[in-house]
Amino acid sequence: MAARQPVPTVFRQLLGDAGVVEPGDASAAYLAERRGLFADRSVAAVVRPGSTDEVAAVLRQSATDGLAVIPQGGNTGLCGGAAPGTNTEGTIVLSLERLNTIRAVDAENFSLTAEAGCTLSAVQQAAAAVDRLFPLSYAAEADCQIGGNLATNAGGMNVLRYGNARELALGLEVVLADGQVWDGLRALRKDNSGYDLRDLFIGAEGTLGIITAATLRLYPAVRERATCIVGLDDVASAVALFARLRAESGDTITSCELMGRMPLETAIAYAPDCHEPLPAQHPWYLLVELSSSARDGDLARRLERALAESRDGVGDYRIASNADQATDFWRLRNRIPEAQKSAGASIKNDISVPIADMPAFLQAASEAVIARCEGVRICAFGHIGDGNIHFNLTQPAGMEPSVFLAQWERLTQAVHDVVMGFRGSFAAEHGVGQLKPGEVARLKDPVEQSLMRSLKAALDPDNRLNPGKVVPPGPS
Ligand SMILES: Cc1cc2nc3c(=O)[nH]c(=O)nc-3n(C[C@H](O)[C@H](O)[C@H](O)COP(=O)(O)OP(=O)(O)OC[C@H]3O[C@@H](n4cnc5c(N)ncnc54)[C@H](O)[C@@H]3O)c2cc1C
Repeated sequence: MAARQPVPTVFRQLLGDAGVVEPGDASAAYLAERRGLFADRSVAAVVRPGSTDEVAAVLRQSATDGLAVIPQGGNTGLCGGAAPGTNTEGTIVLSLERLNTIRAVDAENFSLTAEAGCTLSAVQQAAAAVDRLFPLSYAAEADCQIGGNLATNAGGMNVLRYGNARELALGLEVVLADGQVWDGLRALRKDNSGYDLRDLFIGAEGTLGIITAATLRLYPAVRERATCIVGLDDVASAVALFARLRAESGDTITSCELMGRMPLETAIAYAPDCHEPLPAQHPWYLLVELSSSARDGDLARRLERALAESRDGVGDYRIASNADQATDFWRLRNRIPEAQKSAGASIKNDISVPIADMPAFLQAASEAVIARCEGVRICAFGHIGDGNIHFNLTQPAGMEPSVFLAQWERLTQAVHDVVMGFRGSFAAEHGVGQLKPGEVARLKDPVEQSLMRSLKAALDPDNRLNPGKVVPPGPS
């Protein structure tokens, strides 16, 4: 009987030299999550197929050889979903980076078909080239890939107006665990001809199939924006102002971001080019952007009128008078995560609750963590227009970072318990990956967990697609 070939050799024969990353330094970037929280160098191979047919061939081979497969996009995910766990000798990492062709752009149908490895920036640019908007947008857009965006149902700055990645997908092409290819690349707005299989793979974080291409929904290009920053006394005033602006702006609000004074001060202290936005200091700030495809110059006036008529809890405000000023406002918001690193160790929570419950949530969650860790600094900011807040915790001044980080589980569990009291989500934006399956098991409805396991067993009976991620193990 012929000796078994080493795994990289098997895949080199299947895909050619370009299809396999050399072990060692070349493969290191594929084997660790960017923040270094999850990494393992024991995987059998890192493969880079160059077409859907090659992805299918890799999955057939993996089925034959009993290998597990970790799909990887831009590896920007924040829950370790694309990174190996531990002891992954019988596992390969499958990078989609060579599937990077925009297959078609249809300006009249407001749609575009892109391969999974296209970066989000490349998709945005392909849409802009035909005077259309692909509205998914956030800080990692130059590196993350559209396949990864769909696999994590990514959100970002414009969800309020255009929805998450799920709402932006019209059709998918998916390679299944046994190597079959499902061609669901339909560019339809209406299709009630059976189960909507597309939705199974979106947000599944690579546990049910490998997305190889997507047909995406486009919108008219934006021709006008109006951006403002508002100082507020409390979060209830922010929620009330958001509702008022939304109702009175002709539903043109694209973004509505909340920042506490603490994260704003952190950005001003540690990030370059960040300055006090208003003459006086306020406990809370709202950054609001309106946008429109019309060019009638009306947005700033609508904003001014609604703000001028607002009373309770609204302090001073500034409407950006030009694009540079708007960029200054956005810089304050976007630099918070980076600046937070300079303020000490952080424990991060990415949660959502119904918008109206946000004031009560923030109050209860703050009390819960302060009771458990005296001096903890609450760095709350995020997409309040979507009910999604990054309820991040910065270590007490003077505490050893390791002492603070040792409390990660008890502090996040305390926050998540408060979230569940509001029927919220403990993983609003960044997914589950290998960071939160324990919380899925602890907090999700048992019937929901059982349905998740049934779907996993139906589509991946041998548990070879991203095992150990997302789906909690069954009761023993
Ligand atoms: C600075 C920064 C800012 C961020 N801001 C946001 C934000 O505002 N909103 C937000 O939602 N996220 C945000 N993220 C998180 C991250 O960018 C998203 O989760 C993104 O969608 C991941 O895309 P990716 O291509 O990097 O996927 P990866 O990290 O490579 O993979 C993520 C998951 O998807 C799976 N996967 C990847 N590609 C495929 C595929 N083709 N088929 C099937 N499964 C696949 C992986 O196995 C993994 O489970 C941010 C990250 C960073 C670093």
